[in-house]
Amino acid sequence: AIPKMAPARPPPPPEGIKKASFVTVGRPIEIQAARLSLPVVAEEQSIMEAVNANDCVVICGETGSGKTTQVPQFLYEAGYGSPNTPTPGLIGVTQPRRVAAVSMANRVGEELGPGGKEKVSYQIRFEGTAGPSTAIKFMTDGVLLRELSEDFLLRRYSAVIIDEAHERSINTDILIGVMSRVLKLRKELAEKYGTKPLKLIIMSATLRVSDFTENQRLFPVAPPLLKVEARQHPVSIHFSRRTVIEYPGEIYKKVCKVHRRLPPGGILVFLTGQNEITHLLKRLRKTFPFKKNVESPLHVLPLYSLLPTKEQLKVFGEVPEGSRMCVLATNVAETSLTIPGIRYVVDCGRSKERNYDKTTGVQSFDIGWVSKASAAQRAGRSGRTGPGHCYRIYSSAVYERDFPEFAEPEILRMPIEGLVLQMRSMNIDTIANFPFPTAPDRPSLQKSERLLEYLGALDPGGALTELGRVMNFFPLSPRFSKILIIGQQHECLPYIIAIVAALSVGDVFIPEHQLDIHREADDEDAAGNAETALEDTQRAKGRKEYYRAHRAFSSLDPTSDALKLLSVVCAYEYEKDSTNFCERNFLRLKAMQETHKLRQQISKIIVANCPGVLSSFNPKLPPPSTAQVKALKQIIASGFIDQVAIRADLLPNSPYKLSQNSVKRVTEVPYMTLFASSAFQRPSDEGLSLDPAVYIHPSSVLASQSLYPEYLVYSELKKSASPTGKVRMKPLTSVTGAHLAALAKGTPLIT
Ligand code: ADP
Ligand code: MG
Repeated sequence: AIPKMAPARPPPPPEGIKKASFVTVGRPIEIQAARLSLPVVAEEQSIMEAVNANDCVVICGETGSGKTTQVPQFLYEAGYGSPNTPTPGLIGVTQPRRVAAVSMANRVGEELGPGGKEKVSYQIRFEGTAGPSTAIKFMTDGVLLRELSEDFLLRRYSAVIIDEAHERSINTDILIGVMSRVLKLRKELAEKYGTKPLKLIIMSATLRVSDFTENQRLFPVAPPLLKVEARQHPVSIHFSRRTVIEYPGEIYKKVCKVHRRLPPGGILVFLTGQNEITHLLKRLRKTFPFKKNVESPLHVLPLYSLLPTKEQLKVFGEVPEGSRMCVLATNVAETSLTIPGIRYVVDCGRSKERNYDKTTGVQSFDIGWVSKASAAQRAGRSGRTGPGHCYRIYSSAVYERDFPEFAEPEILRMPIEGLVLQMRSMNIDTIANFPFPTAPDRPSLQKSERLLEYLGALDPGGALTELGRVMNFFPLSPRFSKILIIGQQHECLPYIIAIVAALSVGDVFIPEHQLDIHREADDEDAAGNAETALEDTQRAKGRKEYYRAHRAFSSLDPTSDALKLLSVVCAYEYEKDSTNFCERNFLRLKAMQETHKLRQQISKIIVANCPGVLSSFNPKLPPPSTAQVKALKQIIASGFIDQVAIRADLLPNSPYKLSQNSVKRVTEVPYMTLFASSAFQRPSDEGLSLDPAVYIHPSSVLASQSLYPEYLVYSELKKSASPTGKVRMKPLTSVTGAHLAALAKGTPLIT
């Protein structure tokens, strides 16, 4: 139920009366024309009236109706964001995804015409373009949360737009809860001192917003809900007769059929992840090579979050003359980005979801059915420019029976210790009373508090400690911040910064199973032309090269992934041609660049906040000494001391027996975790007992070295997607029994 219906649309202003505007904008003619066709533009007046009369307004409108690109401009023209108007202060716009923050900032900058680029900036984790003339700032929701822990009143802002609220990302949910308090404070200040109150606009692509509007603890007075009626063309939905497990093959066939038989119009394919996308990309480019003189070429483009930004923006670029565009996307294209010209949608009906087992802490990426709401969104992408078609690669029976109506909010599916620490730093003490749109369950809250207490960020009474306050300075998970702080006590800090940054960025190495497809995705022109036989030899050669590269980084210490990462970071900084370096060594350039930026960011924070600890950021590090390597391993281990795994055969009365001969693969050596193992011994769905052991992840340096030390510390547990469903540990660092004993006794580290 919707608490308050949209107010009747006011009559349009009589001819000749211009709308009140504080700022003149000189938009290019073609932009102006395109704007007029957007449904949200017709609602400008009612939106601005609602914003002027209320502190918080909720806007619901179909994807593509113009919310993200236009609403910030309405505010801007009404005087928000500009210094010399009655409502000075930035207009902040948050997005759950980095891709969207960057591309929307670009677009709005363009739409504002000459000088627009300087007025619109973006800020994502490591990159920002804000300058003195910034009026509209797009950012990820995480960035605004960080700013809130520095200035809870958001004094620099006059308005904040929280976009894509229907996605229910964990940060968006928290942000809405926090912002409800900020609004109240800004209002009180305004009444006392005549400052400006803050305006909050929550935007959603669906009408399912009752968690925000009907939550009295969040908003005692329900905010008005404005509905933007979008002109959506009819979309014919075609279900498959059967639901096959091997859906990528079906999708391939469907795309070929559409392209060969149906009239012009772009194709948008929804897949679950990078692997599927690159595979299909390769197949399609082979079938429809993009060469001169080829009839009806297919212009295939990938779109997923790990793709470099420049590549992502290609979907908005020109489609080469005479060709049909075909975008292979993850759910980024569901509501965040509207790709122009789509008439056909091919939907696999699944998505990859990060899940988290609250009892064991095991994370997994599971492929599961999307919700009916998401399936409808996906279908809707085809009906923007004209009547569209959506091909669902699953049967209507499965859809009816197995698809949930709506997706679960992310806060119910994720570890939350980082959030709890952040909230404590904002002086939100009784988190149980926080106005969450959907509250996390109590056990996960308690578990996070225990971990934070264990790390020393909270005292036994649950109050934020000085250490916790310092930990929150860093844009890192609490555990990594803790390692950084331990690292300060030895002369290892620059190395620890490098390690923590690389661990935190994650996915530095290209996984082995993505070897061949990755290369090809980088090299567009070559794609599709290679002979199969040649490919096989290349693949074999590639694999050999791959292991050579991996082993080359294990010289500092063969038993620590953390030190392997350190070697990589050190080597990277000395290379002149970083693209070539990454290609040669099977590293992801984007991850390496982000690691560099994160090192810089962490170093700056330390220089500014911890006088005398670090003088400056020097990207080039000399190799650490033997003593330093030892100390580094111990520092890492101390940060993960609650995440120790012991080789299962060494436990008393162990049923596992290992000998040099019995171990064929390191990844099959069973380990037991200290704290979590008992939790694995639960009956699974089938009533069978789950394997209580955990295993070394094939990406670990240990796997390529054929080593399996007695004790390891791990940073995460992942359940593999394979049918065996083994739980695997990564990244790993070996630790000695003596060191463990010393730590258990609380003895300071020996270096
Ligand atoms: P909403 O937020 O309501 O989903 P948007 O404001 O994102 O809608 O999109 C409005 C229109 O702007 C869409 O037709 C979309 O295709 C277009 N658009 C957005 N970004 C770009 C861009 N970079 N280039 C061209 N068109 C764009
Ligand atoms: Mg949008």
